Amino acid sequence: MDSVLPENERTRHRRLRAQGSRERAELDAILAAGFVCHVGVVVDGTPMVVPTVYGCDGETLYFHGSVASRSLVAGPLGEVCVTVTHVDGLVLARSLFEHGVNYRSAMIYGTPRVLTDPDEKLEGLRVLSEHSVPGQWDYARRPSKKELVATSLLALSLEEASVKIRVGPPDDGDSPDAELPVWAGVLPMSVRWGRLEADPSLKEGIEPPEHLRRLEGR
Ligand SMILES: Cc1cc2nc3c(=O)[nH]c(=O)nc-3n(C[C@H](O)[C@H](O)[C@H](O)COP(=O)(O)OP(=O)(O)OC[C@H]3O[C@@H](n4cnc5c(N)ncnc54)[C@H](O)[C@@H]3O)c2cc1C
Repeated sequence: MDSVLPENERTRHRRLRAQGSRERAELDAILAAGFVCHVGVVVDGTPMVVPTVYGCDGETLYFHGSVASRSLVAGPLGEVCVTVTHVDGLVLARSLFEHGVNYRSAMIYGTPRVLTDPDEKLEGLRVLSEHSVPGQWDYARRPSKKELVATSLLALSLEEASVKIRVGPPDDGDSPDAELPVWAGVLPMSVRWGRLEADPSLKEGIEPPEHLRRLEGR
């Protein structure tokens, strides 16, 4: 894929344009840094924003749901807008008006394809699984035929996407408000994995595998 995200009327940044990025690498980094997206979809005339897990192989974003899921898989799914958001901090300005958030976010538009070919579906599920828990696909039991039938997998091309990123201090450092005796700056925020907690019903002697241990504290 191109190193620059193509722009159209839908993805062209208008407000807060300085925060917009057309770097393909920024999109890839935002998608790689998360595994939960929000799928905006209109179901029977009602807009719904559905949080769900995703995986990504650089060209396609995969997300899945139960075949019984009304929002994600019932009927032909029309156009969707998928967002992925990471919050990096609170931006605390002198004025409440200038308060904000440091963030990285992506929006992807398109009509997802429902994967029906079993091999393609299995590969998409592998991408999805490996994206969130690398190493787990080869470790845990793979989906059975019955489980595959009960799962709908959707594939959305990354061709139409936009990125916005805000970094840095508040914007009122060189405004008249800078004279106010009000503390201003950033309260950074980060998300970390904790320590592994064994299932109370885990059979004795089963230790966590290395690929899970590696995630602890990261
Ligand atoms: C955690 C978080 C908190 C935010 N809080 C606020 C807030 O309180 N008030 C506020 O005004 N804005 C906030 N934003 C920014 C907000 O997401 C929009 O970018 C902004 O409101 C401009 O919206 P718009 O529709 O006018 O943008 P436009 O510039 O008109 O949008 C044009 C196109 O740019 C792209 N685009 C717009 N926003 C984003 C985005 N965030 N990520 C990726 N692509 C995007 C889309 O493709 C869109 O169609 C926040 C963003 C994040 C991630």
